[in-house]
Formats: sequence, structure tokens, C-alpha cells
Amino acid sequence: ADLPDPDVVAARPSDVLVPEPGAESDKYRRGVVGIVAGSDQYTGAAVLSTGAAVHAGAGMVRFASVEHPVELVRRRWPEAVTTVIEPEPKALAGVGRVQAWVVGPGLGTGEAAEELVTQALATDVPVLVDADGLTVLARRRDLLARDAPTVLTPHAGELSRLIGVDRDVIEARRLEHARRAAAELGATVLLKGSTTLVAEQDRPVRVNPTGTPRLATAGTGDVLSGLVGALLAGGMAALDAAAAGAYLHGLAARIAAAGGPEEYGQAPISAFDVVTALPRAFRTLD
Ligand code: AMP
Ligand code: MG
Repeated sequence: ADLPDPDVVAARPSDVLVPEPGAESDKYRRGVVGIVAGSDQYTGAAVLSTGAAVHAGAGMVRFASVEHPVELVRRRWPEAVTTVIEPEPKALAGVGRVQAWVVGPGLGTGEAAEELVTQALATDVPVLVDADGLTVLARRRDLLARDAPTVLTPHAGELSRLIGVDRDVIEARRLEHARRAAAELGATVLLKGSTTLVAEQDRPVRVNPTGTPRLATAGTGDVLSGLVGALLAGGMAALDAAAAGAYLHGLAARIAAAGGPEEYGQAPISAFDVVTALPRAFRTLD
């Protein structure tokens, strides 16, 4: 209501068209998403991002990381095809063909992480960069010079590092900075926070109407990355995938918090609850 800007649109349910499998579909044609996440210290982000992709209609989820997160993902998501990689040249090439990459959650920010972010962005498919991947990008903005679509999913702190503007200044004028970042970085920018915005150069900014403060809990951002990655792999355009992902993410959180139809009130939720509520969020689009 405070947005008098005609160049801003709400992502209404009627705009949310997600890929539907048809009679001719097979797992490859539905879209293979590759997730590069996790490290020896951080494993939860990898499990959450992969789980979201598994529940978001991907034909196949390929997960690639070092040994420890791979072990945990294998145990939790037998649906995912996993590869243990060492950050050597050609590491991602050995993972197999994907239609979109998600890179960054829990990845760490050192040289090994930088090599993986570099490799993902060197491909000719859409790439979503989140979390630690964004920290790497803040010092390697040159990696954004590519032809295929790039989706960045920063919160205000991550965007601050990317564009060199104070976090408080971004928070005070989120719309302006989301738009500016999209133009400056040549990417689709999904700015997370109390109201999630999706900006792309020369397109109206999408304002997500489904957000809920119940999402303010650790791990929910990792869920969003896998969800949007699956939509990208399914062939959605970057702006649509990001906006639909934010929409379904908020909806899943609301559904998880409300419990079953016979319950009332709102319960606390965890990021994992958002993952398991995703199919119910998709169902509301029918
Ligand atoms: P991250 O910052 O990566 O941990 O992601 C947190 C997720 O929760 C993002 O999808 C945010 O948009 C969402 N979120 C965080 N705080 C709020 C809030 N106060 N209201 C609505 N959504 C929020
Ligand atoms: Mg995050």
C-alpha cells in the first residue's frame, strides 16, 4: 500500500504458473537441478536446499559437495543423485548435465568455494547464487559476466557486500536498491526480508504478498534456494521462477504454521517444516 510506484507489481496467484508434467514428460525433460552446497562445517543448508528441490517438481536433483554433507543428503533424500567432488578443475563437469545450478548455501567462502562458484557461473545454464556464494561473488563480481540468466538471493546484509551500500541504507530503501542491484550486477535479484522483492532490469519489480515473519528462522533461506532452482531447471524464466518461488515459500510457511484444516492458530515452524509443506503450497495453485 506504501508503494506508489507504477513500476511495481504484486506477484498475484494468477501470475504463478509453474511447470506441469505432461504425458511426454520424463525426468530429464522435467528438469535436472544441480545443487552445490554444504561443507565439512555446514551441512544443514545442503539438506534443506536439496529437500526443497526434491519437493518442488524437479525431474531429478543432483547434489554435489564434499563427503560429509553428501553422506547426510544421501541419508535424508534418497531421491537425490549425489556426487562427492573435490574442488579441482572440472569438478562440476563430472556431476552430469543439469538445466540449472544452485550454488552457495553452507559452502564456505574460501578458495574451494570460489572455485565451485566460478565453475557454476562458467556454464551456459541458469545459475542461482545464495548465501556463501554471494560472499564469494562480492569479491569476484567479474564472474557475473555471462550470457545465461543469473539469480541472486541476498538478504540486506549480503546485498550490502555485493553493491557496497550500508545495510541500513538498503533496508530504508529496499525497492530502490533491489532495482539498482539488478541493473548493476546484470542479474535477477531476489531481495529477502520482511517483504521480498524480485527485480530485473527493465521489468516491473515483483513484490511477494505471501511472506510471514514466521520465516525468520534459520535455514528458510536455504529452502528458498532449492525451490527456485527447481523452477529454473523446469524452464521458468528467471524473474518468474524467483517470484513464484518466493510466493510458494511464504505459502508453505503459512500452511506449516496453520497445521491441518481442523486446527486453528499458528504454531512455530522450522525450515524443515517449510520443506515438507511445499507440495501443499503447490496444490493451492490448481
Ligand atoms: P535467510 O536470510 O537466507 O536466512 O532467509 C530468510 C528467509 O526468511 C527469507 O526468505 C526471508 O525473506 C524470510 N524472512 C526473514 N524475516 C522475515 C520477516 N520478518 N517477514 C517475512 N519473511 C521474512
Ligand atoms: Mg541465507
